[in-house]
Amino acid sequence: MTFDLTPEQDQLRDAVRALGRRYGHSYFVAKAKSGEHTTELWTEAGQLGYLGVNIPTEYGGGGGGITELAIVCEELAAAGCPLLLLVVSPAIAATILSRHGTEEQRKRHLPGLADGSQKIVFAITEPEAGSNFHRLGTVARRDGDEWLLSGRKCYISGVDEADHVLVVARTEDAATGKLKPALFIVPTDAAGLTRSKLDMEILSPENQFLLYLDDVRLPADALVGESLDAGLPALFAGLNPERITVAAMGAGTGRYAIERASEYTATRKVWGGRTIGSHQAVSHPLAHAAVQVELARLMIQKAATLYDAGRDLEAGVAGNMAKYASGEAAALAVDTAVQALGGAGMTTEYGVATLLGAVRAGRIAPVSREMILNFVAQHVLGQDKSY
Ligand SMILES: Cc1cc2nc3c(=O)[nH]c(=O)nc-3n(C[C@H](O)[C@H](O)[C@H](O)COP(=O)(O)OP(=O)(O)OC[C@H]3O[C@@H](n4cnc5c(N)ncnc54)[C@H](O)[C@@H]3O)c2cc1C
Repeated sequence: MTFDLTPEQDQLRDAVRALGRRYGHSYFVAKAKSGEHTTELWTEAGQLGYLGVNIPTEYGGGGGGITELAIVCEELAAAGCPLLLLVVSPAIAATILSRHGTEEQRKRHLPGLADGSQKIVFAITEPEAGSNFHRLGTVARRDGDEWLLSGRKCYISGVDEADHVLVVARTEDAATGKLKPALFIVPTDAAGLTRSKLDMEILSPENQFLLYLDDVRLPADALVGESLDAGLPALFAGLNPERITVAAMGAGTGRYAIERASEYTATRKVWGGRTIGSHQAVSHPLAHAAVQVELARLMIQKAATLYDAGRDLEAGVAGNMAKYASGEAAALAVDTAVQALGGAGMTTEYGVATLLGAVRAGRIAPVSREMILNFVAQHVLGQDKSY
Protein backbone atom coordinates (compact mmCIF):
# COMPACT_ATOMS: atom_id res chain seq x y z
CA MET A 1 0.00 0.00 0.00
CA THR A 2 1.34 3.39 -0.89
CA PHE A 3 -0.02 6.84 -0.15
CA ASP A 4 2.46 8.58 -2.42
CA LEU A 5 1.64 10.01 -5.78
CA THR A 6 3.95 9.17 -8.67
CA PRO A 7 6.43 11.94 -9.59
CA GLU A 8 4.26 12.70 -12.66
CA GLN A 9 1.12 12.98 -10.52
CA ASP A 10 3.00 15.20 -8.07
CA GLN A 11 4.07 17.45 -10.92
CA LEU A 12 0.50 17.56 -12.22
CA ARG A 13 -0.78 18.54 -8.76
CA ASP A 14 1.79 21.33 -8.44
CA ALA A 15 1.16 22.62 -11.94
CA VAL A 16 -2.64 22.64 -11.60
CA ARG A 17 -2.35 24.29 -8.20
CA ALA A 18 -0.20 27.03 -9.73
CA LEU A 19 -2.70 27.56 -12.54
CA GLY A 20 -5.64 27.65 -10.13
CA ARG A 21 -3.92 30.14 -7.85
CA ARG A 22 -3.18 32.42 -10.78
CA TYR A 23 -6.94 32.75 -11.29
CA GLY A 24 -8.15 32.23 -7.71
CA HIS A 25 -11.52 32.50 -6.04
CA SER A 26 -11.98 36.20 -6.77
CA TYR A 27 -11.88 35.39 -10.51
CA PHE A 28 -14.46 32.61 -10.01
CA VAL A 29 -16.75 34.91 -8.01
CA ALA A 30 -16.38 37.84 -10.42
CA LYS A 31 -17.36 35.60 -13.34
CA ALA A 32 -20.33 34.21 -11.43
CA LYS A 33 -21.56 37.66 -10.42
CA SER A 34 -21.27 39.05 -13.94
CA GLY A 35 -23.02 36.04 -15.46
CA GLU A 36 -19.91 35.05 -17.41
CA HIS A 37 -18.13 31.74 -17.71
CA THR A 38 -14.61 30.81 -16.65
CA THR A 39 -13.57 30.62 -20.30
CA GLU A 40 -9.99 31.82 -19.81
CA LEU A 41 -9.28 29.27 -17.10
CA TRP A 42 -10.96 26.46 -19.03
CA THR A 43 -9.09 27.31 -22.22
CA GLU A 44 -5.73 27.50 -20.48
CA ALA A 45 -6.33 24.27 -18.58
CA GLY A 46 -7.22 22.62 -21.89
CA GLN A 47 -4.15 23.93 -23.66
CA LEU A 48 -1.94 22.70 -20.82
CA GLY A 49 -3.46 19.23 -21.15
CA TYR A 50 -5.21 19.17 -17.75
CA LEU A 51 -8.73 18.65 -19.13
CA GLY A 52 -7.66 15.62 -21.11
CA VAL A 53 -5.48 13.85 -18.56
CA ASN A 54 -7.81 10.83 -18.50
CA ILE A 55 -8.32 10.63 -22.28
CA PRO A 56 -6.27 8.08 -24.27
CA THR A 57 -3.19 9.53 -25.98
CA GLU A 58 -4.33 8.41 -29.45
CA TYR A 59 -7.19 10.90 -29.14
CA GLY A 60 -5.04 13.77 -27.91
CA GLY A 61 -5.29 13.10 -24.19
CA GLY A 62 -2.73 12.48 -21.47
CA GLY A 63 -3.37 8.74 -21.23
CA GLY A 64 -3.84 8.85 -17.46
CA GLY A 65 -6.81 7.81 -15.39
CA ILE A 66 -9.43 9.13 -13.03
CA THR A 67 -6.69 9.53 -10.40
CA GLU A 68 -5.16 12.27 -12.58
CA LEU A 69 -8.50 13.90 -13.34
CA ALA A 70 -9.39 13.87 -9.63
CA ILE A 71 -6.12 15.70 -8.96
CA VAL A 72 -7.13 18.38 -11.48
CA CYS A 73 -10.60 18.73 -9.95
CA GLU A 74 -9.28 18.88 -6.40
CA GLU A 75 -6.49 21.36 -7.05
CA LEU A 76 -8.62 23.81 -9.01
CA ALA A 77 -11.24 23.66 -6.24
CA ALA A 78 -8.53 24.08 -3.59
CA ALA A 79 -7.57 27.29 -5.40
CA GLY A 80 -11.17 28.48 -5.10
CA CYS A 81 -12.29 27.43 -8.60
CA PRO A 82 -14.57 24.41 -8.26
CA LEU A 83 -15.54 23.78 -11.89
CA LEU A 84 -18.57 21.51 -12.11
CA LEU A 85 -18.11 21.05 -15.85
CA LEU A 86 -14.93 19.07 -15.16
CA VAL A 87 -17.19 16.42 -13.70
CA VAL A 88 -19.61 16.54 -16.61
CA SER A 89 -17.40 16.87 -19.68
CA PRO A 90 -14.03 15.15 -19.10
CA ALA A 91 -15.17 12.78 -16.34
CA ILE A 92 -18.59 11.60 -17.50
CA ALA A 93 -18.78 12.32 -21.24
CA ALA A 94 -15.16 11.52 -22.13
CA THR A 95 -15.21 8.28 -20.13
CA ILE A 96 -18.46 7.13 -21.71
CA LEU A 97 -17.23 7.88 -25.23
CA SER A 98 -13.77 6.40 -24.60
CA ARG A 99 -15.19 3.19 -23.24
CA HIS A 100 -18.40 2.75 -25.20
CA GLY A 101 -18.44 5.16 -28.14
CA THR A 102 -17.83 3.98 -31.69
CA GLU A 103 -14.40 4.64 -33.18
CA GLU A 104 -15.95 7.39 -35.29
CA GLN A 105 -17.48 9.03 -32.13
CA ARG A 106 -14.17 8.82 -30.31
CA LYS A 107 -12.33 10.45 -33.21
CA ARG A 108 -14.98 13.15 -33.57
CA HIS A 109 -15.29 14.19 -29.94
CA LEU A 110 -12.36 13.13 -27.76
CA PRO A 111 -9.66 15.44 -29.18
CA GLY A 112 -11.89 18.47 -28.60
CA LEU A 113 -12.75 17.32 -25.08
CA ALA A 114 -9.04 16.78 -24.41
CA ASP A 115 -7.93 20.26 -25.45
CA GLY A 116 -11.01 21.95 -24.00
CA SER A 117 -12.25 23.32 -27.32
CA GLN A 118 -15.36 21.14 -26.99
CA LYS A 119 -17.67 20.52 -24.03
CA ILE A 120 -20.26 17.78 -23.77
CA VAL A 121 -22.69 18.05 -20.88
CA PHE A 122 -24.82 15.29 -19.45
CA ALA A 123 -28.60 15.06 -19.11
CA ILE A 124 -30.20 12.30 -17.11
CA THR A 125 -32.35 14.00 -14.44
CA GLU A 126 -36.03 14.51 -15.22
CA PRO A 127 -38.73 16.39 -13.32
CA GLU A 128 -41.00 13.35 -12.89
CA ALA A 129 -38.31 10.73 -12.30
CA GLY A 130 -35.93 12.54 -9.92
CA SER A 131 -33.66 10.06 -8.15
CA ASN A 132 -35.60 7.17 -9.65
CA PHE A 133 -33.91 6.71 -13.01
CA HIS A 134 -36.13 3.73 -13.76
CA ARG A 135 -38.92 6.22 -14.38
CA LEU A 136 -37.10 8.09 -17.14
CA GLY A 137 -39.68 9.35 -19.62
CA THR A 138 -37.51 10.74 -22.40
CA VAL A 139 -38.20 8.48 -25.35
CA ALA A 140 -36.20 7.78 -28.51
CA ARG A 141 -38.24 6.61 -31.52
CA ARG A 142 -36.78 5.25 -34.73
CA ASP A 143 -37.78 7.01 -37.93
CA GLY A 144 -36.12 5.15 -40.77
CA ASP A 145 -32.40 5.39 -40.10
CA GLU A 146 -32.88 8.37 -37.82
CA TRP A 147 -33.97 8.92 -34.25
CA LEU A 148 -36.59 11.24 -32.79
CA LEU A 149 -36.11 12.25 -29.15
CA SER A 150 -38.83 13.70 -26.94
CA GLY A 151 -38.89 14.47 -23.25
CA ARG A 152 -37.83 16.87 -20.54
CA LYS A 153 -34.68 17.15 -18.45
CA CYS A 154 -33.94 19.37 -15.49
CA TYR A 155 -30.97 20.88 -13.63
CA ILE A 156 -28.71 20.20 -16.62
CA SER A 157 -25.43 22.02 -16.04
CA GLY A 158 -23.56 23.98 -18.65
CA VAL A 159 -25.87 23.61 -21.66
CA ASP A 160 -25.22 27.23 -22.61
CA GLU A 161 -21.48 26.65 -22.97
CA ALA A 162 -21.51 23.17 -24.50
CA ASP A 163 -21.48 21.97 -28.08
CA HIS A 164 -23.34 18.77 -27.31
CA VAL A 165 -25.41 17.22 -24.59
CA LEU A 166 -25.31 13.52 -23.86
CA VAL A 167 -28.97 12.67 -23.33
CA VAL A 168 -30.08 9.54 -21.51
CA ALA A 169 -33.33 8.26 -23.02
CA ARG A 170 -35.22 5.02 -23.28
CA THR A 171 -36.23 3.50 -26.57
CA GLU A 172 -39.91 3.34 -27.43
CA ASP A 173 -40.21 -0.43 -27.20
CA ALA A 174 -38.77 -0.25 -23.68
CA ALA A 175 -41.17 2.43 -22.48
CA THR A 176 -42.66 -0.03 -20.05
CA GLY A 177 -40.84 -2.56 -17.96
CA LYS A 178 -37.16 -2.49 -17.08
CA LEU A 179 -35.12 0.53 -18.04
CA LYS A 180 -33.00 -0.09 -21.09
CA PRO A 181 -31.33 3.25 -21.49
CA ALA A 182 -29.86 4.57 -24.69
CA LEU A 183 -27.48 7.52 -24.82
CA PHE A 184 -27.55 10.10 -27.60
CA ILE A 185 -25.08 12.81 -28.55
CA VAL A 186 -27.31 15.80 -29.25
CA PRO A 187 -25.96 19.10 -30.64
CA THR A 188 -27.07 21.91 -28.33
CA ASP A 189 -28.34 23.82 -31.38
CA ALA A 190 -30.45 20.91 -32.69
CA ALA A 191 -33.90 21.83 -33.98
CA GLY A 192 -36.53 20.94 -31.37
CA LEU A 193 -34.13 21.30 -28.41
CA THR A 194 -34.95 24.32 -26.27
CA ARG A 195 -33.83 25.35 -22.82
CA SER A 196 -34.67 27.71 -20.03
CA LYS A 197 -32.23 28.78 -17.36
CA LEU A 198 -33.10 27.87 -13.79
CA ASP A 199 -32.63 30.47 -11.08
CA MET A 200 -30.38 28.67 -8.60
CA GLU A 201 -29.16 29.92 -5.20
CA ILE A 202 -25.60 28.85 -5.98
CA LEU A 203 -22.93 31.41 -6.74
CA SER A 204 -21.37 29.82 -9.79
CA PRO A 205 -20.28 30.75 -13.29
CA GLU A 206 -21.91 27.50 -14.43
CA ASN A 207 -25.68 27.43 -14.94
CA GLN A 208 -28.42 24.83 -14.71
CA PHE A 209 -31.19 24.44 -17.29
CA LEU A 210 -34.51 22.85 -18.02
CA LEU A 211 -34.27 21.10 -21.39
CA TYR A 212 -37.20 20.42 -23.65
CA LEU A 213 -36.77 17.85 -26.40
CA ASP A 214 -39.57 18.05 -28.90
CA ASP A 215 -39.06 15.48 -31.66
CA VAL A 216 -35.37 16.28 -31.91
CA ARG A 217 -34.26 14.55 -35.10
CA LEU A 218 -30.88 12.83 -34.93
CA PRO A 219 -28.84 10.78 -37.36
CA ALA A 220 -28.32 7.07 -36.67
CA ASP A 221 -24.78 7.68 -35.43
CA ALA A 222 -25.98 9.96 -32.61
CA LEU A 223 -26.61 6.79 -30.62
CA VAL A 224 -23.62 6.11 -28.36
CA GLY A 225 -22.04 2.78 -29.23
CA GLU A 226 -22.62 0.24 -31.96
CA SER A 227 -26.08 -0.84 -30.83
CA LEU A 228 -28.78 -0.27 -28.24
CA ASP A 229 -27.06 -2.83 -26.03
CA ALA A 230 -24.29 -0.29 -25.36
CA GLY A 231 -26.70 1.95 -23.41
CA LEU A 232 -26.68 0.40 -19.95
CA PRO A 233 -22.92 -0.26 -19.73
CA ALA A 234 -22.27 3.21 -21.12
CA LEU A 235 -24.47 4.81 -18.47
CA PHE A 236 -22.78 2.84 -15.70
CA ALA A 237 -19.35 3.74 -17.09
CA GLY A 238 -20.03 7.37 -16.27
CA LEU A 239 -21.08 6.82 -12.66
CA ASN A 240 -17.78 6.02 -10.96
CA PRO A 241 -15.83 8.85 -12.62
CA GLU A 242 -18.68 11.21 -11.75
CA ARG A 243 -18.70 10.28 -8.07
CA ILE A 244 -14.93 10.28 -7.71
CA THR A 245 -14.34 13.63 -9.42
CA VAL A 246 -17.22 15.39 -7.69
CA ALA A 247 -15.82 14.07 -4.41
CA ALA A 248 -12.40 15.45 -5.34
CA MET A 249 -13.95 18.82 -6.07
CA GLY A 250 -15.63 18.77 -2.66
CA ALA A 251 -12.38 17.87 -0.91
CA GLY A 252 -10.60 20.70 -2.70
CA THR A 253 -13.33 23.14 -1.71
CA GLY A 254 -13.05 21.97 1.89
CA ARG A 255 -9.29 22.48 1.83
CA TYR A 256 -9.73 25.94 0.37
CA ALA A 257 -12.19 27.00 3.09
CA ILE A 258 -10.09 25.62 5.94
CA GLU A 259 -6.98 27.32 4.57
CA ARG A 260 -8.77 30.69 4.30
CA ALA A 261 -10.10 30.36 7.84
CA SER A 262 -6.82 29.17 9.33
CA GLU A 263 -4.91 32.09 7.83
CA TYR A 264 -7.44 34.45 9.35
CA THR A 265 -7.72 32.91 12.82
CA ALA A 266 -3.93 32.63 13.15
CA THR A 267 -3.56 36.41 12.89
CA ARG A 268 -6.84 37.99 14.01
CA LYS A 269 -6.63 39.36 17.59
CA VAL A 270 -9.59 40.74 19.52
CA TRP A 271 -8.61 39.80 23.13
CA GLY A 272 -5.31 41.52 23.83
CA GLY A 273 -2.39 39.73 22.23
CA ARG A 274 -4.11 36.37 21.66
CA THR A 275 -5.17 35.22 18.24
CA ILE A 276 -8.74 33.99 17.93
CA GLY A 277 -7.26 30.69 16.73
CA SER A 278 -5.78 30.21 20.21
CA HIS A 279 -9.34 29.71 21.47
CA GLN A 280 -10.17 26.05 21.09
CA ALA A 281 -13.80 26.90 20.38
CA VAL A 282 -12.44 28.36 17.14
CA SER A 283 -9.56 25.99 16.34
CA HIS A 284 -11.17 22.66 17.23
CA PRO A 285 -14.06 22.91 14.79
CA LEU A 286 -11.53 23.81 12.08
CA ALA A 287 -9.30 20.90 13.10
CA HIS A 288 -12.33 18.59 13.11
CA ALA A 289 -13.30 19.73 9.63
CA ALA A 290 -9.69 19.23 8.45
CA VAL A 291 -9.83 15.63 9.72
CA GLN A 292 -13.09 15.00 7.84
CA VAL A 293 -11.69 16.44 4.62
CA GLU A 294 -8.52 14.36 4.92
CA LEU A 295 -10.56 11.19 5.53
CA ALA A 296 -12.60 11.95 2.42
CA ARG A 297 -9.38 12.45 0.43
CA LEU A 298 -8.17 9.01 1.47
CA MET A 299 -11.39 7.44 0.26
CA ILE A 300 -11.17 9.36 -3.02
CA GLN A 301 -7.64 8.06 -3.54
CA LYS A 302 -8.81 4.51 -2.84
CA ALA A 303 -11.78 4.81 -5.20
CA ALA A 304 -9.67 6.31 -8.00
CA THR A 305 -6.97 3.67 -7.58
CA LEU A 306 -9.53 0.85 -7.75
CA TYR A 307 -11.23 2.42 -10.75
CA ASP A 308 -7.97 2.87 -12.65
CA ALA A 309 -7.08 -0.76 -11.87
CA GLY A 310 -10.29 -1.82 -13.63
CA ARG A 311 -11.94 -2.97 -10.41
CA ASP A 312 -15.25 -1.28 -11.21
CA LEU A 313 -17.47 -2.95 -8.61
CA GLU A 314 -15.15 -2.17 -5.70
CA ALA A 315 -14.63 1.31 -7.12
CA GLY A 316 -18.42 1.72 -7.07
CA VAL A 317 -18.58 1.14 -3.33
CA ALA A 318 -15.52 3.28 -2.61
CA GLY A 319 -16.63 6.00 -5.02
CA ASN A 320 -20.05 6.27 -3.40
CA MET A 321 -18.49 6.37 0.06
CA ALA A 322 -15.97 8.97 -1.10
CA LYS A 323 -18.72 11.11 -2.57
CA TYR A 324 -20.75 10.88 0.64
CA ALA A 325 -17.77 11.64 2.89
CA SER A 326 -16.60 14.51 0.73
CA GLY A 327 -20.04 16.07 0.42
CA GLU A 328 -20.44 16.11 4.19
CA ALA A 329 -16.86 17.26 4.82
CA ALA A 330 -17.02 20.10 2.30
CA ALA A 331 -20.29 21.41 3.72
CA LEU A 332 -18.88 21.20 7.24
CA ALA A 333 -15.61 22.87 6.26
CA VAL A 334 -17.23 25.84 4.53
CA ASP A 335 -19.78 26.36 7.30
CA THR A 336 -17.07 26.10 9.96
CA ALA A 337 -14.84 28.52 8.05
CA VAL A 338 -17.66 31.07 7.82
CA GLN A 339 -18.19 30.83 11.60
CA ALA A 340 -14.47 31.16 12.35
CA LEU A 341 -14.27 34.34 10.31
CA GLY A 342 -17.23 35.94 12.10
CA GLY A 343 -18.71 38.83 10.14
CA ALA A 344 -15.86 38.64 7.64
CA GLY A 345 -17.08 35.15 6.88
CA MET A 346 -20.22 36.56 5.31
CA THR A 347 -18.44 39.08 3.10
CA THR A 348 -17.62 38.51 -0.53
CA GLU A 349 -14.07 39.73 0.09
CA TYR A 350 -13.04 36.83 2.32
CA GLY A 351 -14.46 34.32 -0.16
CA VAL A 352 -15.93 31.55 1.96
CA ALA A 353 -19.69 32.26 2.21
CA THR A 354 -19.56 32.44 -1.59
CA LEU A 355 -19.24 28.63 -1.51
CA LEU A 356 -22.16 27.88 0.82
CA GLY A 357 -24.62 27.19 -1.99
CA ALA A 358 -22.20 25.02 -3.93
CA VAL A 359 -21.29 22.77 -1.01
CA ARG A 360 -24.93 22.48 0.04
CA ALA A 361 -25.75 21.33 -3.49
CA GLY A 362 -22.91 18.82 -3.20
CA ARG A 363 -24.98 16.87 -0.67
CA ILE A 364 -27.79 16.57 -3.24
CA ALA A 365 -26.10 16.27 -6.63
CA PRO A 366 -25.14 14.39 -8.67
CA VAL A 367 -26.40 11.72 -6.32
CA SER A 368 -27.95 12.59 -2.98
CA ARG A 369 -26.58 11.48 0.36
CA GLU A 370 -29.77 9.46 0.94
CA MET A 371 -29.37 7.50 -2.29
CA ILE A 372 -25.76 6.72 -1.36
CA LEU A 373 -26.88 5.51 2.06
CA ASN A 374 -29.49 3.35 0.29
CA PHE A 375 -26.71 1.91 -1.89
CA VAL A 376 -24.42 1.18 1.06
CA ALA A 377 -27.25 -0.32 3.13
CA GLN A 378 -28.20 -2.63 0.29
CA HIS A 379 -24.86 -3.53 -1.29
CA VAL A 380 -22.50 -3.41 1.69
CA LEU A 381 -24.77 -4.21 4.61
CA GLY A 382 -26.97 -6.69 2.77
CA GLN A 383 -30.25 -5.00 3.62
CA ASP A 384 -33.41 -5.33 1.53
CA LYS A 385 -33.83 -2.64 -1.08
CA SER A 386 -35.81 0.15 0.56
CA TYR A 387 -37.40 1.70 -2.51
C1 LIG B 1 -26.20 22.23 -8.91
C2 LIG B 1 -26.82 21.04 -9.55
C3 LIG B 1 -26.30 20.60 -10.77
C4 LIG B 1 -26.88 19.50 -11.41
N1 LIG B 1 -26.39 19.11 -12.63
C5 LIG B 1 -26.99 18.08 -13.29
C6 LIG B 1 -26.55 17.72 -14.60
O1 LIG B 1 -25.64 18.33 -15.17
N2 LIG B 1 -27.18 16.70 -15.23
C7 LIG B 1 -28.19 16.00 -14.65
O2 LIG B 1 -28.71 15.08 -15.26
N3 LIG B 1 -28.64 16.32 -13.39
C8 LIG B 1 -28.06 17.34 -12.72
N4 LIG B 1 -28.49 17.69 -11.45
C9 LIG B 1 -29.61 16.96 -10.86
C10 LIG B 1 -29.22 16.08 -9.68
O3 LIG B 1 -28.53 14.96 -10.12
C11 LIG B 1 -30.53 15.75 -8.91
O4 LIG B 1 -30.97 16.94 -8.30
C12 LIG B 1 -30.34 14.66 -7.91
O5 LIG B 1 -30.08 13.43 -8.53
C13 LIG B 1 -31.60 14.49 -7.03
O6 LIG B 1 -32.77 14.39 -7.80
P1 LIG B 1 -34.02 15.34 -7.49
O7 LIG B 1 -33.52 16.71 -7.39
O8 LIG B 1 -35.08 15.06 -8.48
O9 LIG B 1 -34.50 14.92 -6.05
P2 LIG B 1 -35.66 13.88 -5.66
O10 LIG B 1 -35.42 12.57 -6.32
O11 LIG B 1 -36.97 14.53 -5.84
O12 LIG B 1 -35.37 13.70 -4.10
C14 LIG B 1 -35.71 14.69 -3.14
C15 LIG B 1 -35.18 14.24 -1.78
O13 LIG B 1 -35.72 12.96 -1.45
C16 LIG B 1 -34.66 12.04 -1.20
N5 LIG B 1 -35.03 10.72 -1.73
C17 LIG B 1 -35.54 10.43 -2.96
N6 LIG B 1 -35.72 9.12 -3.09
C18 LIG B 1 -35.31 8.54 -1.93
C19 LIG B 1 -35.25 7.20 -1.42
N7 LIG B 1 -35.60 6.16 -2.17
N8 LIG B 1 -34.75 7.00 -0.19
C20 LIG B 1 -34.34 8.07 0.57
N9 LIG B 1 -34.40 9.35 0.17
C21 LIG B 1 -34.86 9.58 -1.06
C22 LIG B 1 -33.47 12.59 -1.96
O14 LIG B 1 -32.26 12.14 -1.40
C23 LIG B 1 -33.66 14.10 -1.78
O15 LIG B 1 -33.14 14.50 -0.54
C24 LIG B 1 -27.95 18.80 -10.79
C25 LIG B 1 -28.46 19.26 -9.57
C26 LIG B 1 -27.91 20.36 -8.96
C27 LIG B 1 -28.49 20.82 -7.65
